[in-house]
Amino acid sequence: MGKDLILIAGPCSAETRDQILSIADSLSDIDSRAWFRAGIWKPRTMPNQFEGVGEIGLEWLNEVSQTTGLRTMTEVASAAHIEKVLEYGIDAVWIGARTTTSPFNMQEIADALRGVSIPVFIKNPISPDINLWLGGIERIKNSGITELYAVHRGFSFINNGRYRQSPYWHIPIELKRLMPDIPVICDPSHIAGNRDYVEEIAKASISIGFDGLMIEVHNSPDTALTDGVQQITPSKLSEILSDMKMPKSKDLNLDSINILRDDIDKLDFELIEMLSKRMSIASDISVIKRSNNLSILQLRRWDEMLRKRMELADCSGLSPDFVKKLFELIHEESIKIQESNDSDIN
Ligand code: PEP
Ligand code: MN
Repeated sequence: MGKDLILIAGPCSAETRDQILSIADSLSDIDSRAWFRAGIWKPRTMPNQFEGVGEIGLEWLNEVSQTTGLRTMTEVASAAHIEKVLEYGIDAVWIGARTTTSPFNMQEIADALRGVSIPVFIKNPISPDINLWLGGIERIKNSGITELYAVHRGFSFINNGRYRQSPYWHIPIELKRLMPDIPVICDPSHIAGNRDYVEEIAKASISIGFDGLMIEVHNSPDTALTDGVQQITPSKLSEILSDMKMPKSKDLNLDSINILRDDIDKLDFELIEMLSKRMSIASDISVIKRSNNLSILQLRRWDEMLRKRMELADCSGLSPDFVKKLFELIHEESIKIQESNDSDIN
């Protein structure tokens, strides 16, 4: 692991004292500066599932820090959880995706943290709404917490492809742009939902420039009480970390890159100019449509346009799927402009 990379590892849930101490022992051999995670209050989608061991898990976490020196953390979702965590002297807390989704819960936690000094890790909300994430971080920050981290654990869609959650990398990247002082940690376990994909997501996040990893590690993943399919063994974690290629620097300033970046800047300016011209033509067309009493959406024309552009994309070495998404966005904006021309007249 690179010198500056933050590693958080441990089971999805604390299950028994032996399980916790054995995993922590293996992890401290892998990276003595790692944080040890274990959920003790588990937010489950359905009732009557294992909902965590509760308070006794805090005693086990204390033993972890005494026996291994690892710093410990658990998930909190209410003021009562914060109170317990502080009572037992746990080193840090994380706020789960379901909790970040609710401003009421975030404010309750922020109020409970007022006057407290403890690192707080904030997972993204389940839906891809960056403002909920930013707002949640802002609430915790306003309570006076200074050591804050964001954790990217993917976003939930109806279709997440082969992963459990969609990574939607542009959202954590935008968070980094808007809050450059907040380190962003990737949680490849919850994105993957399957241990076979944890490594590729972890490596992708580090090559993008994330600041660390939160990985679910269990000594017997197949018998884990929660998230068994996505947990990896300590030896697999060690293998992934030793094979990880760390970017040398996050802010390269090489001449060879700068020349290419200039080219990209010029092309992007041209793209914006062209888009602006395209929209003004769409606006002219709306005048003709209106005077001939034609509907704004001309389905046959749109279908033909889209097919031709996707074919062209294919011939030009671009992904037809990407070009389809791009033109859907452009077409949506054209329609919006034509509609607003219509309502200005009416
Ligand atoms: C967890 O980390 O075990 C967890 C419940 O994660 P999330 O909030 O990302 O679903
Ligand atoms: Mn989990």
